[in-house]
Amino acid sequence: MPKVLIAGGGLAGLAAAAALGRDGWEVDLFEARPFLGGRATSYAVPAGGEEVPETIDNCQHVLLRCCVNLLDFYQRLGMRERIAFYREFYFIEPGGRISVLKRGRLPAPPHFTGSFLRMKCFSAADKLAIARALLALRRERTRRQDLDRISMLDWLNQKRQTPHAIDRFWRQVLVSAINEDLDRMAAIHGFQVFWLGFLSSADGYEMGIPSIPLGQLYTADAWQGMPNVRLHLRSTVERIDAGGFFVEGKALAADRYICALPFEKLAALGLAAPDLEHSPITGVHLWFDREVTTLPHATLLERTMQWMFNKDRGRYLQLVVSASRDLTALSRKEIVDIAVGDLRLFFPRVHDANLVKAHVVKEQRATFSAAPGTERLRPGTESSIGNLFMAGDWTRSGWPATMEGAVRSGYMAAEAVARTAENSPVYLIG
Ligand SMILES: Cc1cc2nc3c(=O)[nH]c(=O)nc-3n(C[C@H](O)[C@H](O)[C@H](O)COP(=O)(O)OP(=O)(O)OC[C@H]3O[C@@H](n4cnc5c(N)ncnc54)[C@H](O)[C@@H]3O)c2cc1C
Repeated sequence: MPKVLIAGGGLAGLAAAAALGRDGWEVDLFEARPFLGGRATSYAVPAGGEEVPETIDNCQHVLLRCCVNLLDFYQRLGMRERIAFYREFYFIEPGGRISVLKRGRLPAPPHFTGSFLRMKCFSAADKLAIARALLALRRERTRRQDLDRISMLDWLNQKRQTPHAIDRFWRQVLVSAINEDLDRMAAIHGFQVFWLGFLSSADGYEMGIPSIPLGQLYTADAWQGMPNVRLHLRSTVERIDAGGFFVEGKALAADRYICALPFEKLAALGLAAPDLEHSPITGVHLWFDREVTTLPHATLLERTMQWMFNKDRGRYLQLVVSASRDLTALSRKEIVDIAVGDLRLFFPRVHDANLVKAHVVKEQRATFSAAPGTERLRPGTESSIGNLFMAGDWTRSGWPATMEGAVRSGYMAAEAVARTAENSPVYLIG
């Protein structure tokens, strides 16, 4: 079989390797870091004193059941069963009142009707506004041509949404899904999340959370069935040109190449880089000396911290703030203080608990900013070099910067590689 070299061991590069590897291609993948997974990975953080270091996810990564390519990738690695799915979304108001959104017996799209009507965090006017906008979204999805040019907030204002509908529903779901504020997010992405996740099928919204640290989803064992895929860690690709890759000072040539590196790395390697901007995410890890909640996860309304994930018996919580520009200038201590202050409002047991330790991860370059007008700046799979194909969550994958988007881009690059060998396998689902 022909040989392909892949730069980057994030989800895009790994997905391309898994697809081509299963079809017998000789694959060599080069990853600069000592572990796989890129931004969707885990690593050990030093513990104080005698304690064993803690393995933490770079940040809690969640998927929805509509992320069909990502689930297919996990299946290829034998890791599909490691994703636990949750059918209930918990919305908590400051003060601790909980509203639950979950599907009932009706088929999509009215499958949420029963629980939605019972949600206490929305007034009757909020609910009416949200229902009206969801119907409009369904209608306008294929008809409007300007959805990449206007912001989601523009569209919500056109639909006369109430302040609570915007803050407690649309913002709460979309800012974390797209990693951008409503006024900076192209409406097309908000439409896609709600269409695939909430309207087109009854189970698309179910939230998947890995039951093991992210990095363990891609360990060597998972690749045992593909001996033709060789994963080279601590191997930085220094240059890419028509002659091939330069890796750690050595020139390497093959039949085809895939570049699955973050867009900000391309220029240094001699490749054209798209003119995209970044949007940050901040993750806060808190360990308490006792259980402070029994909820598995929750979305926290109207405070700085947006989502809570219960990582270990209600004692170790991970909090996430997407599009976290407001936290950039703050110190880690200031961020921890805000996090603990927010938690006290939602989970009264935090008042009696002692914080044992805390860890803050500020990812300034978490994803590209999905601003209006960005779609046309995202390049496709082809490059200016004939046998080099591009992948990465920033390419035009049809999805925003997500794990699903990264895997889609990897499958698309793998399909393009296979096509040049007069082979036309279909890896991409949907
Ligand atoms: C904090 C945070 C939270 C997130 N939460 C979610 C979430 O909940 N759900 C979701 O779907 N998505 C989430 N995302 C987005 C998701 O992680 C990314 O979209 C996806 O992982 C990107 O994959 P990728 O392969 O395109 O890029 P990357 O993961 O960046 O992979 C690129 C790889 O290339 C390597 N590399 C760089 N330079 C070189 C070089 N010169 N030579 C060799 N290797 C090199 C890097 O080390 C990296 O491993 C989150 C991202 C962050 C940062």
